[in-house]
Amino acid sequence: MNNDNFVKSTETLKETVPLMIKHKVPTTPANYALWYTYVTQQSPRLNQAIDGEIAEQGQCSPTACDKLYQQHIASKTVKDMAQLKQSLTAMMQELSHSMTDTLSETESFQHNLNKGFNQLELAEKEGLSLEETMGLVRNLVKESRNIQLSAGAFRTQLNSAQQEIAALRAALHESQKEANEDALTGILNRRAFDRDMESFQLKKQPYSLIMLDIDRFKRFNDDFGHQMGDQVIKAVARRLKESCREQMQAYRFGGEEFALVLPNRSLASARQHAETLRRNIEKIAVMDRKKGERVNSITASFGLAEQQPQEPVIDVIRRADEFLNQAKKLGRNRVLPVN
Ligand code: GH3
Ligand code: MG
Ligand code: MG
Repeated sequence: MNNDNFVKSTETLKETVPLMIKHKVPTTPANYALWYTYVTQQSPRLNQAIDGEIAEQGQCSPTACDKLYQQHIASKTVKDMAQLKQSLTAMMQELSHSMTDTLSETESFQHNLNKGFNQLELAEKEGLSLEETMGLVRNLVKESRNIQLSAGAFRTQLNSAQQEIAALRAALHESQKEANEDALTGILNRRAFDRDMESFQLKKQPYSLIMLDIDRFKRFNDDFGHQMGDQVIKAVARRLKESCREQMQAYRFGGEEFALVLPNRSLASARQHAETLRRNIEKIAVMDRKKGERVNSITASFGLAEQQPQEPVIDVIRRADEFLNQAKKLGRNRVLPVN
């Protein structure tokens, strides 16, 4: 059915029903066909007959309707009912299209729409009255409006919920980052170190550990001030971070003490890495603004340990720490063990 026919049919429908109600005509399929034909003025003789009946009787009685139907319509009934069905189907399809955008996934609407189509078929098969058929359409229209309204509200809720979730996720991400990051240097902190070591333990991931501690840092702070001390800590952290290859990870272990974890690396490999770091730290120079001169006397001591199979983290740390203490005792600015 093209759009013109659809518009015309629904117009006819809108005219026919009130007319039938006005003249107290029972809304049977036969009567609908009769009055539909009357409204569309397809048969001038029928219109004359109906007009005459109403003029004489003040109404169109069921008996008169039956007679008129037999005389003028009978052979055309099936065609007209088919037309009615088509116009109602088209209306519902129209509704269906307008709903698709907003509510393609609403099962209840789909369900009701399908129910509507099915009932419409029944209306034809079982001779459901036009009034009942129209009631069906009205329900569908009402249903679709309700759904449209609730879909709008739902979408608004969904949008704000999504925004809220995104904001919460960002906040969570930020706080997790803060929780695992050292504020001064931006590298991972002790908490992250503990977390990562635990996961190594679980995965049975072998690794070597480098512990390092800035030498005579108390004196450095005393000589140049805490702010310059902070600059040194940042500079050391930056070098550690930049030295990381593959899965290596650098942590500020606490104060002026740092840790470097080297997964799948031997002690010899860790020693090489530590030796490079030691020389890089020696090269650090920070500006003393008061005196207008560069300070480049920064050194650090290193202690290493290679994790043995099944060895708990705490034992690996203790071993590396012992070597670090030895390095201090032996004069600082060195890596232990030497082999
Ligand atoms: P050693 O060579 O034996 O390690 O001597 P040290 O002076 O470095 O060791 P000690 O443990 O006696 O002193 C560590 C100093 O590091 C003391 C503390 O004020 C300083 N420190 C720790 N954290 C920071 C920090 O965040 N900023 C600054 N500026 N100093 C810090
Ligand atoms: Mg220390
Ligand atoms: Mg120190």
